[in-house]
Amino acid sequence: MPKIAVVQDILSANDEIARENRRRFDQAGVFVLNLMSAPGAGKTSLVLRTIAALQPELRLGVVEGDVASQVDAERVAETGVPVVQINTGGGCHLEAHALRAALEKIPLEDLDLLLIENVGNLICPAAFPLGEHLQVVIASLPEGDDKPLKYPALFAQADAVVINKIDLAPYMDFDREAFRRRVEGLNPRVTFFEISCRTGEGLAAWADWLRRRRAEQRESVRRIGGC
Ligand code: MG
Ligand code: ZN
Repeated sequence: MPKIAVVQDILSANDEIARENRRRFDQAGVFVLNLMSAPGAGKTSLVLRTIAALQPELRLGVVEGDVASQVDAERVAETGVPVVQINTGGGCHLEAHALRAALEKIPLEDLDLLLIENVGNLICPAAFPLGEHLQVVIASLPEGDDKPLKYPALFAQADAVVINKIDLAPYMDFDREAFRRRVEGLNPRVTFFEISCRTGEGLAAWADWLRRRRAEQRESVRRIGGC
């Protein structure tokens, strides 16, 4: 088989399992986020801040994707929320089948919100939907404001872009207006957040948005005759 056909098969198999995962999420009534970023942008910090903001009002669970180690999962487990680690063993992104296996170890029916922390990578997670309701891309000031130019696919399909580490603004040349314009050029309907997981700035707006989007999703599942 030509190489391109093989790649197409892998992607369509992933999409099929992603749709299965989505059905399970909707049946269980859990709202699911796929958090993606380059390494070190603050995915785990945002997970921890989101737990602090919303637990126990919403019942959270977390899936941690990493190439190796459980250090992020251990930090999350200290909060008391259920967490499952996926180690990709070198793989640079999560795939829907790996998530499906991880879901066996998490009490989906007991959750309102599931946060999936993808492997730190701005390239291939864009091509592997997992069944999530929303895709969130986290950028941070030290990475520079040109990331949307270099990795357009992920920014083009994100539901939200979170700019983290804004407490470093005085020390960085990151042009937030230019960054936003570049993202909006790819994705005019995206929602932006500017936050600092270190100081807590901007996190209330993020938590409010999650509450609202979750409620909207529940309402739409109810209307179309889901659970
Ligand atoms: Mg992490
Ligand atoms: Zn990859």
